[in-house]
Amino acid sequence: MDERGIMDVCCGSQWPGNMRKHFPIEQYEQMQQYRLRAWENSKTKWQIGCQSCQLSEQIKDESSREKFNRIVDVAENPINTSIQQTTIRTGRTCNLKCTMCGPSLSSKWASFVDNNLNSEFIKKYKLSVDDEEVSQEKFVDFVKNKIINPDLKRIEFTGGEPLYSKATYKIVEYLLETGYYKKIEKIKLQTNGTTKFNDVMKDLFKRFNGSVEVSLSSDGTDEVFEYIRRDHSWDNFVDVTTSMKQFLDTTGLEYSLKISYMLQAINSKSFEKDREFYNNWDQLHDREPFHYDIVHDPKHLSLASIPLNLKKLWKCPVDDSLKYNQLQHKNMIEYYDVIDTKDNHPSWRNFIPELEL
Ligand code: SF4
Repeated sequence: MDERGIMDVCCGSQWPGNMRKHFPIEQYEQMQQYRLRAWENSKTKWQIGCQSCQLSEQIKDESSREKFNRIVDVAENPINTSIQQTTIRTGRTCNLKCTMCGPSLSSKWASFVDNNLNSEFIKKYKLSVDDEEVSQEKFVDFVKNKIINPDLKRIEFTGGEPLYSKATYKIVEYLLETGYYKKIEKIKLQTNGTTKFNDVMKDLFKRFNGSVEVSLSSDGTDEVFEYIRRDHSWDNFVDVTTSMKQFLDTTGLEYSLKISYMLQAINSKSFEKDREFYNNWDQLHDREPFHYDIVHDPKHLSLASIPLNLKKLWKCPVDDSLKYNQLQHKNMIEYYDVIDTKDNHPSWRNFIPELEL
C-alpha cells in the first residue's frame, strides 16, 4: 500500500503493459475478491503484473513470490484473507533528491521542482505530480484496522524515506502497544542511510524476536554516490551504516544489512568497482551484501544512454532490452546539466567525461 492509499495485492515490480489492477482503500473488499480470483487463475497461467517473478524464475533466480511463499501460508490456505505480508510506503517525505527519483516519491524533489524548473522541462521529463497523498490520519488508521492483524508475518517499510516519516513511527508504536510485533517473523526496512535508528526503532528491534533486513539504498561510492544521492554525503552514509551495524550487533537478532543499488548510465563505469567494494565492506552484514536492479525508467538515465562499446569496456552487465539510443543520451546530458546548474552541483564530467557527445 502506498501513501495515496492505493493497494496492490502483491509486489510493486510492474511496468506499463504489465500492471495489475490497483484499489483505493475504500475498495478493500473488492481487492480481496480480486486477490482470490487471481490466486485461482494463477494455478494455470502467470497473471498480469507477475512478469518480474516469471523472468526471475526463468533465469533460476529466486523470485519475490518464492521468497514470500516461504513466509506466508497462502499457498495452503488461500481463503484466509488476513494480510500476512505487507509492504507499506509510508509517505513521500524524503530528505534527498536522488537524480533518478522525482517529486512523486520525494518531498525534497517536489520543492526543488517548484522552485527551480520551468513547465517545459517538467513536462518533458515527467516531473509533475498528479496524485495526492491521503491524510496521514486516514492512512495510519487504515493500516491499524485492516493491515495489521494477528496473522501478519512480514512487514516492510519503504518511502520516501521511512525513517523520516511520522507514519512509520505511529505504525511501529502501534505494533509495540498491541503486541502484534511478537507474531511478526520478518521486518524489512528500505532506507537511504541518512539517519540513524531513533529510540522507537531501537525499542522495536530490542523487543523483536524475528529477523530484520535493512536495505540501504546506494548507487555508488564517494563522488558518484554524492552525485546520484543528491544532498547526501558519502561520509554520513558510512557513519550511519556503521552506527546501524553497531546497534544491530548488540541486539542478538538474526539480521541482514545490505546494499540496494540501481544500475544506470551514470554509474555504469564504476559499477564493477562499487560491487567489489560493497561485497567486501565489513560494515555490511549478509552473505550477499550487494544487490542491484537495472533502471528502466526514466529511460534517459538508463543504460540506453550508454553506447555499447562503453558498456563492454566498463564490463557493466548489458541488458539487451536497453539498446543504445542517441536521443536518450542527449536527453540525459540536458537533464543532468539543468539540474546540476540549478542545484549548484559539480558536474558528471568530473568522473565520467566519456559521456560527452
Ligand atoms: S532516497 Fe528514495 S525517495 Fe528519497 S529521493 Fe532518493 S530514491 Fe527518492
